[in-house]
Amino acid sequence: MIAASSVEIRKVNKYYSKFQALKDIDLSIPPGKVTCLIGPSGSGKSTLLRCINFLEEYDSGEVLIDGKLIGYETAGGAKMSGRKLRDMRRSIGMVFQQFNLWPHMTALQNVAEGLIRVRGMRKAEAEARAAEALTKVGLADRMANHPSRLSGGQQQRVAIARAIAMEPRLMLFDEPTSALDPELVGEVLNVMKALASEGITMVVVTHEMGFAAHVADQVAFMEKGELVGVDAPAQILHHPEDPRIQAFLRTYHERNSF
Ligand code: ADP
Repeated sequence: MIAASSVEIRKVNKYYSKFQALKDIDLSIPPGKVTCLIGPSGSGKSTLLRCINFLEEYDSGEVLIDGKLIGYETAGGAKMSGRKLRDMRRSIGMVFQQFNLWPHMTALQNVAEGLIRVRGMRKAEAEARAAEALTKVGLADRMANHPSRLSGGQQQRVAIARAIAMEPRLMLFDEPTSALDPELVGEVLNVMKALASEGITMVVVTHEMGFAAHVADQVAFMEKGELVGVDAPAQILHHPEDPRIQAFLRTYHERNSF
């Protein structure tokens, strides 16, 4: 079992100049659980996710990882040093919509690179760890391939392997399947599902309601920068009380039925 982090988001506000992208967000992310962030495009899901590792700088409120404030020395105080921030980020992995792999490196080298550069591991040790991570995501037979010789789904699985090789206690996923052809979505979701069963804390921005329904422990719905509701998936996806969630799900079902 992997050690898992908790995240506490308290009264977080975020502005892009005058536009308020996050409004007083409160959310508890329990350790070892999967939290899915859903809601219409532009509602602030990605911004909130990126505040968790301070890729986006929130303007007020607190984001606590295992009880420790990230981004600032104290709430409302000075920004923490780059070194402290890097230290805190060591336990946080992130997977983006775009895979961001090095085109000139093999899958194995892509995964090993961070271990060598960031963790200072020797090449042989890093490659052994990378091979293990790639095996975990079902790519044992693709390690020598360059990204151009891998499908989108396989490339995203390399990106996941790259993140888990660093042994994070928290994984953030920002629409990890949105750039994939529909037939490749399942293989990536299956890898994420397997990861969830290992007990790592996961926060996933997704439009995949099936994944949210079957894998999430809690689902948070956002609209217009507000966190409208957070609950167990069965409750929020099948018996939503808030009319904004009802309207979103109605549109989703209309678009996805044929
Ligand atoms: P979601 O992930 O729910 O689609 P985002 O968090 O990406 O939403 O965006 C929330 C809102 O903030 C959107 O209206 C978006 O246009 C705006 N926004 C996001 N990033 C920036 C930025 N760097 N500068 C200005 N506005 C931004």
